[in-house]
Amino acid sequence: SLSDRLGGVFERLRGRGALSEADVRTAMREVRIALLEADVALPVARDFVEKVTEQAVGQNVLRSVTPGQQVVKIVHDALIDMLGSDTAELELGVTPPAVIMLVGLQGSGKTTTTAKLARLLAKSQGKKVMMASLDVNRPAAQEQLAVLGTQTDTVTLPIVAGQTPVEIARRALSSAKLQGFDVLMLDTAGRLHVDQALMDEMKAVADIATPAEILLVVDSLTGQDAVNVASSFSEQVPLTGVILTRMDGDARGGAALSMRAVTGKPIKFAGMGEKLDAIEPFHPKRVAGRILGMGDVVSLVERAAESIQEEDAERMASRLAKGQFDMNDLRSQLAQMRRMGGIGALAGMIPGMKKAQAAAENAGGDKVLLRFDAMITSMTPKERAKPELLNAKRKIRVAKGSGTTVQDVNKLLKMHQEMATAMKRLRKMGGLKGVLGMLG
Ligand code: GDP
Ligand code: MG
Repeated sequence: SLSDRLGGVFERLRGRGALSEADVRTAMREVRIALLEADVALPVARDFVEKVTEQAVGQNVLRSVTPGQQVVKIVHDALIDMLGSDTAELELGVTPPAVIMLVGLQGSGKTTTTAKLARLLAKSQGKKVMMASLDVNRPAAQEQLAVLGTQTDTVTLPIVAGQTPVEIARRALSSAKLQGFDVLMLDTAGRLHVDQALMDEMKAVADIATPAEILLVVDSLTGQDAVNVASSFSEQVPLTGVILTRMDGDARGGAALSMRAVTGKPIKFAGMGEKLDAIEPFHPKRVAGRILGMGDVVSLVERAAESIQEEDAERMASRLAKGQFDMNDLRSQLAQMRRMGGIGALAGMIPGMKKAQAAAENAGGDKVLLRFDAMITSMTPKERAKPELLNAKRKIRVAKGSGTTVQDVNKLLKMHQEMATAMKRLRKMGGLKGVLGMLG
């Protein structure tokens, strides 16, 4: 994945203050490859990398994450910025019937998606929906929609042979108005390739139907080609959004970025299969994650940024550099661990920590963190600074003061001992800064 790659690139750079232009360019080469592997169109990938490079150069690296992780986060944020941060709603707040027109190449999934959306609007918003097929090119295209109407309990406009798409649109509009439908869905014809006759037809229909939404339906598997299709359509028809179909067969999601870049319009839905309930609002964050294949690095960096107080980290680093690690240090580490979502959350994000997670859960999970904190609170400042002062008598006092047992106090001391040793070892290995935040 991209995070592994960047991890390698940045191994040497660990612990530097700010991201230099050379560092960022090195990383961006990997980002560019990851984008292309995710099927993002070449010019789109190029522009994106250029933009992000400008943003990233000179940014400070958070003490608790590696430069590679920081770059992944910057790239991820830029992706979301581009894809849109939230799911985009349909704009149906017009005088009914609100017309939704679907356009796109033949086989992209227009007819299926028309029925899926009709079903969704009826089910989730209680809308009264009518569908009409304007596809007079493909034999039995109108019948196909009628069948889907039966399957989804959606009214379809009765078929009249020999009408043009514009005539059908006009009839559909007046029929939907007369019968009080909230939404009229227009399924249109497609071609194998974009041509002017198709575009003229779309424009003529859009002129008389004045749709609230004109949605471009694109097969996410067509990758690089999809860009040409999208730019032709968006130049000639006033699109309001995009629907990506066959996202069930595309684990990479690069078409989403391309579509957004080329049309400038939000991606509103994702088709997730052939069944008529297989449609979902488009989630930019999920897709951004998929494009980079970076798992949970982003949330790790986010939490680190939120929770680590810079001063804390500075103080900690300088103490550790001197080989000092007392109960106060342990306490601030425990608090940080809690802020970052507890042992489990942390372990889940860091590869190879599954064992530690199991051990922590055996010991009582996150409750242990709170109990440890209570015990440290019950110590005197001297005891905190010099834990070896804790003899049997003092242990009993701490246990009583914190509502725990002497055994618990011993566990805490043991943990402190182990962490102090681990910190010393780390210092010798010189990998302290990178690992500090992860250990919490
Ligand atoms: P149109 O020519 O644009 O109207 O495309 P259709 O709606 O007739 O769809 C063409 C084929 O794609 C059909 O077999 C659909 O079942 C299939 N299809 C449409 N959307 C999806 C999707 O999201 N996932 C999958 N796997 N198949 C889809
Ligand atoms: Mg069709």
